[in-house]
Amino acid sequence: VKLPEKTLGAVLYETGKPLVVEELTLPPLLPGQVLVEMAFSGVCHSQLLEADGKRGPDRFLPHVMGHEASGKVLAVGSEVTKVTPGDSVVLTWIASRGAATPGPAYTNQKGDKVNAGPVATFLQHAVVAENRCVRISPEVPLDVAALWGCALPTGCGTIFRKLDAQAGQSFVLLGAGGVGLASLLAAGERECTPRIVVDISEEKLQFARKLGATHTLLFGDQLKAEVLSLTGGRGADLVVEATGNRLAMEAAVPLARDRGGRVVLAGNTPAGEKISIDPFALIYGRVLTGTAGGESLLDEDIPRFEKLLGNPLFPMEKLLGERYRLEEINTAMERLRAGSLGRTLIAW
Ligand SMILES: [Zn+2]
Repeated sequence: VKLPEKTLGAVLYETGKPLVVEELTLPPLLPGQVLVEMAFSGVCHSQLLEADGKRGPDRFLPHVMGHEASGKVLAVGSEVTKVTPGDSVVLTWIASRGAATPGPAYTNQKGDKVNAGPVATFLQHAVVAENRCVRISPEVPLDVAALWGCALPTGCGTIFRKLDAQAGQSFVLLGAGGVGLASLLAAGERECTPRIVVDISEEKLQFARKLGATHTLLFGDQLKAEVLSLTGGRGADLVVEATGNRLAMEAAVPLARDRGGRVVLAGNTPAGEKISIDPFALIYGRVLTGTAGGESLLDEDIPRFEKLLGNPLFPMEKLLGERYRLEEINTAMERLRAGSLGRTLIAW
């Protein structure tokens, strides 16, 4: 098999500016690295924050981005044992088993270095660390599998692992984006009830109903009263915030019931942003916590996602959103910013 020497990647040269899609030269594979041909890459809010420079000063410019994808292994460096050429894989930012290697450096047409983290997926071919790859069965549809790198593990891990949600518990979700809707699916699989979804977009709320929301509410001043009335006056057992919006985070806490209602912050705010909470919300026994990646162990969780394929209680394919070519990456990001439904994919 002849391996590619060049590929097409979307490069962030300057924060606040569009990405530049251009030809890049692939670096040689080092021990512990894997060369993957991308099938689908998810586009997530983290990349919007990154591209907008809202994660603080960006020391890695210029660089490629993207942190969830599916694809095929083309080649492996020495010491790689987890995957072999021809395998279908999920690429993920969440470290799992295998070698941890630093990010590779690509070279642009001018001969300048373009940085990458241990995983980057806005590339037709990418060199990634072994510990960011998880093998999947060749029968798994690769569009759905792309969601297993970030949206599904973060959203589902919040419900399955962090909260260990139980049947009959009341559940409120703030933010019907990719991660939030994945947590809604997981809450449905655990038979939480009611499953209340809150957003600022009526369109997103409609979409959430298709994914199992039993009630939907527009974000506003009446939110706490509405949640109380839908939970028999008690407040919710479980509250998941997946907006990354300060006001939503602040509103999430009092929606939980006192004496044991739990609130998980899963959204990412711009760097430096602070939230304000009434201490009595905690004094009366609410538990406020957060999660990065839903505490996922992907070597265990991805086989579970495979088993859940086709389960009517867990229709994860309904999470798939709009599809774009890599050349349309800036449109894809604009659409996400404007509130597109489901998880946006780059497709090859
Ligand atoms: Zn993500």
